Amino acid sequence: ELYNQVQDLKGNIRVYCRVRPFLQGQGATQTTVDYIGENGSITIVNPKQGKGKKKTFTFNKIFGPTSSQEEVFTDTQPLIRSVLDGYNVCIFAYGQTGSGKTFTMTGPDNPSSADWGVNFRALNDLFHLTQYRKDSIHYEVGVQMIEIYNEQVRDLLCSDGSNKKLEVRNKSQQNGLNVPDASMVSVHSTDDVLNLMKVGHHNRTVGATALNDRSSRSHSVLTVHIKGKELASGAVLRGCLHLVDLAGSERVDKSEATGDRLKEAQHINKSLSALGDVIAALAQKSSHVPYRNSKLTQLLQDSLGGHAKTLMFVHVSPDLDSYGETISTLKFAQRAA
Ligand code: ADP
Ligand code: MG
Repeated sequence: ELYNQVQDLKGNIRVYCRVRPFLQGQGATQTTVDYIGENGSITIVNPKQGKGKKKTFTFNKIFGPTSSQEEVFTDTQPLIRSVLDGYNVCIFAYGQTGSGKTFTMTGPDNPSSADWGVNFRALNDLFHLTQYRKDSIHYEVGVQMIEIYNEQVRDLLCSDGSNKKLEVRNKSQQNGLNVPDASMVSVHSTDDVLNLMKVGHHNRTVGATALNDRSSRSHSVLTVHIKGKELASGAVLRGCLHLVDLAGSERVDKSEATGDRLKEAQHINKSLSALGDVIAALAQKSSHVPYRNSKLTQLLQDSLGGHAKTLMFVHVSPDLDSYGETISTLKFAQRAA
């Protein structure tokens, strides 16, 4: 019943746009967001250029600056639950650094229960549903969490914090896993979910220095693997959910970036455009989908296209200084919509 609304969508790709509020101390006098329509349209204006220069983009849904974490999750929940029916689902957070990607996916630092993002809510919801159905279906829920930095894959749930480079494999050969060597943690309770998030979050920030917030320049992927065995028939269904907090999409000024910074920027550029190309090819139902051009799209190949479902959250910072990035973010997203 719930899932029908997901299937009705054009193809299996949907795009939600979220505009974050002005932050404390940021002031709120001028914004680029001119209008948010009920029908999923958002109009951006550059007040420096006058009201004549407006651009309107249309997506499946827009969440304005007052939208709560709960509202965002409610509109995502049916998609997440389809994993229990054997679907593979990818949810991406895209946008420039500071636009609210991590807020949507994880939440703010030290979240109260109302502030938890999609990751925690998804895991908790799936866990509760599996408990609810346990007299008819036996479920196993396992979680992996990895980071892709400079096209290298690293385990975020590794207990010893080692920095081992992981291989991405073709899933069909590897017991349903495309990063078989990444730690797999079983989830048996809400506490397990909370602990997991903390370990992942901690490991993600270990590589970062004050000067170099690496988390904004790596992709993090939380993958929930679900195996359900129907007790009466013995039939087995598998689904997986990938929750992806992408690296910041801002363009780096090539004349300023050098060395490591330039290398990072090139890797981010390459993988975000590879992702954009894959999603655009799927949206256009193109016969060739270029999965091989980045680690990220290779990793997610089985969960992008075919019967899989994809949701892209694109994030917008409301301030005037972000005008250029906002336009390029919305253009990126429009290719998928
Ligand atoms: P990103 O991950 O895209 O770099 P963050 O999620 O870290 O951005 O958000 C930047 C700052 O804005 C953080 O302090 C975060 O808590 C805050 N923030 C982002 N989105 C919202 C929102 N919808 N409501 C309130 N605060 C937000
Ligand atoms: Mg972030």
